[in-house]
Amino acid sequence: MIDLSDKTALVTGAGSGIGRASALEFARQGASVVIADIDTESAEETAQLASARGARSLVIRCDVADGSDVAAMVNKAVSELGGLDYAHNNAGTEGNLESSRGTLETSEEEWDRLMGINLKGIWMCMRAEIPHMLEAGSGAIVNSGSISSLVGSTAGFVAYSASKSGILGLTRSAALEFAENNIRINAICPGYIETPLWQKYIDEDQSVRETISHRQPIGRLGTAEEVAKAVVWLCSDAASLITGVALPLDGGFTAQ
Ligand code: NAD
Repeated sequence: MIDLSDKTALVTGAGSGIGRASALEFARQGASVVIADIDTESAEETAQLASARGARSLVIRCDVADGSDVAAMVNKAVSELGGLDYAHNNAGTEGNLESSRGTLETSEEEWDRLMGINLKGIWMCMRAEIPHMLEAGSGAIVNSGSISSLVGSTAGFVAYSASKSGILGLTRSAALEFAENNIRINAICPGYIETPLWQKYIDEDQSVRETISHRQPIGRLGTAEEVAKAVVWLCSDAASLITGVALPLDGGFTAQ
């Protein structure tokens, strides 16, 4: 058990999948949680689950691609919960399958949309979060990359892969910039994780589950809870020496 009582954690994209699991894991370890999402209804559901675990939580509607939304989210979190110790900048999208696949097929509009959410969104979150951590004298941030940060996409998701690769440059550079300020900044690179993001493709075609399970040497999909445990561990003092890493959470996919 990691004791995070008296700590406050902010999770973006906390209404679903990995973000929801992360918010609930922070709650389970005693932290107060800020549940931020563009979809307020699903964020409220996460807050109810956090309350059932006895956690203090705050729902904030935020589009991470909008700089003023992001600034308002962090200011509200700090003013209502009294500080910001940890952030999991998780909100992201795989994009529109029709207009974001392939170097030649991807539209400029979809390229910009994906970069705005997946990459610029993470930079804008850090830009808003770090000043409060500097003031407090410590902090830890985890940014959500992907195995597509580490290897090219065989399915042709070029804009997704480019956005997720950019997160590593952003994470490493910011980690170096703030290392002496006792702020640790890391990235996670999940493989195939069973969340609503994948569920919709599995529902359409049951063979998808088997195909993607076998891409990971462990022979199964990861769970959102497994990712969440790694996120909370990276934020905790148990990982006090770790900054600037890109941690694969992929059942051996990138070891192949
Ligand atoms: P998900 O679709 O289940 O959840 C994503 C959440 O982000 C949703 O609640 C959605 O409303 C929110 N969101 C989307 N756009 C937003 C925006 N502009 N502002 C604020 N919130 C927004 O997805 P997931 O599978 O839980 O994925 C979460 C993160 O993990 C993403 O960054 C994704 O790229 C990454 N990831 C997922 C997998 C996987 O296999 N599921 C693998 C690697 C990386």
